[in-house]
Amino acid sequence: MAANTGLLGPYRLSYDGINHAVARRTAGVFALGSTDPGGNFRVKHVGRSDSDVRSRLCECIGSDALFKVGFFASARAAFEKECELFHDFAPPSNRIHPSRPKGTTWECPRCKIYHHTKP
Ligand SMILES: [Zn+2]
Repeated sequence: MAANTGLLGPYRLSYDGINHAVARRTAGVFALGSTDPGGNFRVKHVGRSDSDVRSRLCECIGSDALFKVGFFASARAAFEKECELFHDFAPPSNRIHPSRPKGTTWECPRCKIYHHTKP
């Protein structure tokens, strides 16, 4: 049983698909991937935008077939969700840990990578 991302979708990673799924300019987290023969969404990459997840997704068109997305009221909530997805799914296209926005002292909810470090 695959873990659940808790995100909306999947939607087609195309302008039409993005327009359908993302109407607002907002912070958000997304997962790119495709469905396996059993119909399960396979996460290949996770990312986020601190202010405009729609334009970030548009930059990813062509890199995969489908995406899932989640919207967050704050950049911090988006950062923490991205970290959780990174640790839960170990997406093959994410070689490095999600970065936190410059100037913040936010810590990953799952690991100590940012523990006692200065922004
Ligand atoms: Zn972490």
